[in-house]
Amino acid sequence: MTPAPRRGEILYRVGQLLQERKEQLSQLLTREMGKVIAEARGDVQEAIDMAFYMGGEGRRMLGYTAPVEMPNKFGMAVREPVGVCAIITPWNFPLAVPSWKIFPALVAGNTLVYKPSPETPILGIEFVKVFEDAGLPAGVINVITAPGIEVGQALVRHPKVKAISFTGSTKTGTTIAAEAGKLNKKVSLEMGGKNAITVLDDANFDLAVNAILWSAFGTTGQRCTACSRLIVQKGIAPKLKEALVERTLKLKLGDGLLPTTDVGPLINKVAQSKVHDYVGIGQKEGARLLVGGKIYSDYGKGFFYEPTLFDNVTPSMRIAQEEIFGPVLSIIEVGSLEEAVQVNNESAYGLSSSIFTENVSAAFTAMRDLASGIVYVNHGTTGAEIQFPFGGVRGTGNGHREAGQAALEVFTEWKSIYIDYSGRLQRAQIDTDSILGSTS
Ligand code: NAD
Repeated sequence: MTPAPRRGEILYRVGQLLQERKEQLSQLLTREMGKVIAEARGDVQEAIDMAFYMGGEGRRMLGYTAPVEMPNKFGMAVREPVGVCAIITPWNFPLAVPSWKIFPALVAGNTLVYKPSPETPILGIEFVKVFEDAGLPAGVINVITAPGIEVGQALVRHPKVKAISFTGSTKTGTTIAAEAGKLNKKVSLEMGGKNAITVLDDANFDLAVNAILWSAFGTTGQRCTACSRLIVQKGIAPKLKEALVERTLKLKLGDGLLPTTDVGPLINKVAQSKVHDYVGIGQKEGARLLVGGKIYSDYGKGFFYEPTLFDNVTPSMRIAQEEIFGPVLSIIEVGSLEEAVQVNNESAYGLSSSIFTENVSAAFTAMRDLASGIVYVNHGTTGAEIQFPFGGVRGTGNGHREAGQAALEVFTEWKSIYIDYSGRLQRAQIDTDSILGSTS
């Protein structure tokens, strides 16, 4: 097998090629799934960052030694590859998300079959071409473009596939986990979110407004970390709502390739209908539409939806509980930090939570009590960096994390090795004077 440092060098070359092709891939990304070009560049950049970070693991991939309880004996734990991994990804981050899986899988010495979303097959193929051009031996990475049900299921069930790394909806993820569980396979799931920003009365107002708009309407609300609940303390609520309405109305919808566009289209007609259905559900539940709530057809083509704000939302409403995956933000008013934390945590999902406050005690309380895999202070719900673990609790994940050192746990098995150079039978936890096995 190619030694890990050599594998790491191939990843560095992939990183360099991605840098060279960044603009070309970003343009393709916007054309294929619609996010605005600045965000598409961010998507590619995340893959570049991951290439160099995981390339470094080729010379690290740390195991450990620890003292052993008997003389003349040595113990160590090392990481080994799992085998063939299935990589199943969504369309909303067509380069970043696969890079979180493919780079750690490869540096750890696995081979893999990659199934991109049927919405973004061209980027899936272009990404794999970069590995080919970087000199990855044939057969190490394989790509297959197809609808999920047929090919995804076949991958999950295939006896040679030892581990499955999935990102997508909670419905699909839990189906995969049930199937894989019966076959005793390793499964890592990154699934849906219903992320919230809390704004306390003492928040930095302008910062909070900018962060809310970016988190709620960036990528047209189609990020797993997008903010879809705004939990706001009563004192600041009227001023905040007014500012959000004013700024939301100024957002420019259109072609993501134009630098003046703020919000691109939704991925497809089904997504557009789903968002519109939820707007109807919110109104029936008694929420008040502040702005938006309509299919936007001025642009002519593409599945656009007006950025939408709902007021008078209560925590148990469906629009406050279910993942809409579009530009819809529900505003929930609370009286205190304690109430905000409670509302934040009463969710079937647990990916990203954020709080805006200038009070250090409130910030530390929130860091401790917000129950999600990621917590931001004075920053929106999106913007994770690849060197830290990424993932969530409850319906968002199944205990694994991507990125950072944590990513290696999915793609490696631990092997513990004991070397006894005493020349005698030494038995751990057992008195060595016993007759059985005694050398005297
Ligand atoms: P999806 O679940 O419909 O599809 C995800 C992938 O699974 C696709 O490649 C699809 O073809 C495949 N698939 C579908 N059915 C399958 C089956 N039965 N067996 C195996 N594979 C199957 O999700 P989507 O619409 O592509 O993506 C949007 C979802 O992804 C949202 O819920 C979003 O929150 C989530 N997401 C989560 C994260 C995260 O890190 N937590 C990141 C990005 C997106």
